[in-house]
Amino acid sequence: MILLDGKQTSAQIKEEIASAVSEMQNNNIKVPHLAAVLVGTNGASMTYVGAKVKACELVGFESTLIELPEETSEDELLTQIKALNDDLNIDGFIVQLPLPKHIDDQKVLMAIHPDKDVDGFHPMNVGRLTLDLPTFISATPYGIMELLERYEIPTSGKHVVVIGRSHIVGRPMSILMSQKRPAGNATVTVAHSRTANLAALTKTADIVVAALGIPEFLTADMIKEDAAVIDVGITRVSDDSKKRGYRIAGDVHFESVSKKASYITPVPGGVGPMTIAMLLKNTLLARQRAEAD
Ligand code: NAD
Repeated sequence: MILLDGKQTSAQIKEEIASAVSEMQNNNIKVPHLAAVLVGTNGASMTYVGAKVKACELVGFESTLIELPEETSEDELLTQIKALNDDLNIDGFIVQLPLPKHIDDQKVLMAIHPDKDVDGFHPMNVGRLTLDLPTFISATPYGIMELLERYEIPTSGKHVVVIGRSHIVGRPMSILMSQKRPAGNATVTVAHSRTANLAALTKTADIVVAALGIPEFLTADMIKEDAAVIDVGITRVSDDSKKRGYRIAGDVHFESVSKKASYITPVPGGVGPMTIAMLLKNTLLARQRAEAD
C-alpha cells in the first residue's frame, strides 16, 4: 500500500508556486493577492481561512482577510464583493462557506466576478469546467486530480466510483475524471444518498473517491483488492482523549481499508492540504491571466 501524502505533495506545489512568485518579484511584476471574506465566527471556517492566509504568506503572496460580523446583511456582503471585484489590487478572492442562514449562498457566489473566482464555484466557471475550457477548477477536486497525476495512478479506462454528488466535490470530480485529460479518461459512476446497493458498485471500482461526510463509512469489505482510495471526508468527531475534545475523521475506515488498498489518502494529511495548495495555484493563475490581459 502506498500512502498518498498530501502534506508532502502540497509542500512541493507550494515550493513551485513560491519560485514562480520570486521570478515575478525579480521581474518587477506584481505578485498575486488573495482576499478571503469570513462572515461570523464558525470555528472550522476560522481555522480554514487562517490556514489559507498563512499559506499565502508562505509562498510570497499578498493576502487580505476581511472579517465581517455574523449579523452582516446580504446587501452589505454583496457591496463588499462588488468592492473586491472592482479592486485592481486583488487578483482573486473567496467567500468562506457556510454563510449565516439569512444570506443566500448562491446569490453571493453568483456576485463574484468569474475572473476572480479562484474557488471555481461561479456557474460560468463550472460551465467552463464541464466543457473542458480554461477555468478555475475548484480546489478540492483539482487537488485530487493533482495527487492522482503526481503519483501516476492509472485512471485511463478504469472504473471510478465517486460517492457524493455535491457541487464542490463529487460532481466536479466525476466530470474531471471522465474527461480526456491527465488523471482522466476513466469510466465514472456517481453514487449518492439514493444509490441502491452501493457496496456492489464500490466493489467493482478501481478507484473510490469517498466524499459523503459520514465518518469511516467506507469499510474494507466494500472495496476490491488493490483499489485506490481517496478520502475527502473531514468530520469533527468528539473525542475526550484529545485536548480540543474532538478528532478529525475521514469517510474511510482507514485501519481496515489501508490493508486492502493499493493507494490511500490519510485524514488528516491527504486531500485537505492539497485543497489549500490548489487555491494558491488558482490565485497564481488569476494573476498570470490579469498580467497577460
Ligand atoms: P455534502 O454534504 O454537500 O454532500 C454529501 C454527498 O454525499 C451528497 O451528494 C449525498 O447524496 C451523498 N451521501 C450522503 N449519504 C450517503 C450515503 N449513505 N451513501 C452514498 N452517498 C451519500 O458534502 P461535501 O461538501 O461534498 O463534503 C463531503 C465531505 O468532504 C465532508 O466531510 C466535507 O467536510 C469534506 N470536504 C473536505 C474537503 C477537503 O479539503 N478535504 C473539501 C470539501 C469538503
